[in-house]
Amino acid sequence: MIIGVPKEIYPGERRVALVPMALPNLLKAGFEINIEAGAGEQAGYPDHLYTEKGAKVASDRKALFDTADILVQVLCYGSNDVNGEEDLKLLRRGHVLIGFLRPLGSADVILQLAKTGVTSFSVELMPRTTRAQSMDALSSMGAICGYKAVLIAADTLPRMFPMMTTAAGTITPARVFVIGAGVAGLQAIATARRLGAVASAYDMRPASKEQVQSLGGRFIELPIEAKNAQDARGYGTQQDESFYDRQRELLGRVVAENDVVITTAVIPGKKAPVLITEEMVKSMAPGSVIFDLAAERGGNCELTRMGETIIRHGVTIIGRINVAGGVPYHASQMYARNLSTFLLHLVKDGKLNLNMQDEIIRETLFTRDGEVVNQRVREFLSLPAPVAAG
Ligand code: NAD
Repeated sequence: MIIGVPKEIYPGERRVALVPMALPNLLKAGFEINIEAGAGEQAGYPDHLYTEKGAKVASDRKALFDTADILVQVLCYGSNDVNGEEDLKLLRRGHVLIGFLRPLGSADVILQLAKTGVTSFSVELMPRTTRAQSMDALSSMGAICGYKAVLIAADTLPRMFPMMTTAAGTITPARVFVIGAGVAGLQAIATARRLGAVASAYDMRPASKEQVQSLGGRFIELPIEAKNAQDARGYGTQQDESFYDRQRELLGRVVAENDVVITTAVIPGKKAPVLITEEMVKSMAPGSVIFDLAAERGGNCELTRMGETIIRHGVTIIGRINVAGGVPYHASQMYARNLSTFLLHLVKDGKLNLNMQDEIIRETLFTRDGEVVNQRVREFLSLPAPVAAG
């Protein structure tokens, strides 16, 4: 089977789906690999590194799609809502497509993709199990987002992060507060601590307390309890408005005491809850920084503007999106590892093995034969149950 690696086309996207060091295992398993010229260039992987490992370079994008059996991408149509549509005409029935597809996004886009007939797998639907951990792209990209957000916040803050005792006086450490201690939040805490800041975090899932503490962060307990805070997959669940009202009230004082606030609170398929109001921003010291990692999902701060950095009431509010794309070398390396493990899982004896008894395959399979076949997505779109997929 031929794997095609197209160049990413989302404006500013520098990642690539497979890196040269992922090729030997795939070639050993019998795959052939074609890349679009320059596919890894922006991530620090020029074409010759791929050809030295045994890949071929396709003459153009159309030729790449025409010859490929499996296409691996970072941002496919769906998650690429700017120009991803251009790829629709290149996809056909029989193609396998793997990447970020935003499966709980726009119904029109999902149905448009399904109509191409492509067999697609969405990396966002990967189950959060030990078995699937090495294939979990949300986790690998989340960790990068948490790390990078802290670096950008540190660079933006007019203060230093570590405590310093010098002949010119003593500098107190910066205080960093993380809201939402999932994968990104935990990495933000670890990074802030490494830079010498005093880090604390809050999450409505009580299970996250120990994880925060194990990284040397202080867990902020609020006298409020979420109902079924965590679903079966480990994700936070949506709460009612009275819960969010109370959260905002209780978080006000904590936010005001910190120099940097990193927010990551999201609920799959829903708009992110607003946890920082304009009043709370006003209460922060001038020069403080909010990095809203939930910006793409509507933002955790009322003032966040998606994709922009703004200053309001003396506070810098960063709504940057595609944060993992800002570390393209390692983001591509980690993503390629996730994908190659998945590819090896998906193919048996040189053939696609759609074993629907396998949880990883069943849960990530998104569209097939012109239909959305994923049960979770069908429920999300209020479509009737699928007719015997398998
Ligand atoms: P996420 O990106 O979906 O959400 C980020 C965090 O925001 C979550 O911890 C969530 O509880 C929190 N949140 C949502 N609404 C909130 C609110 N109103 N107030 C406070 N916090 C709020 O989360 P994630 O990074 O995908 O991780 C979710 C869970 O899955 C974590 O427990 C993580 O450890 C677990 N996980 C397990 C595996 C595995 O076992 N393979 C892999 C990845 C993640």
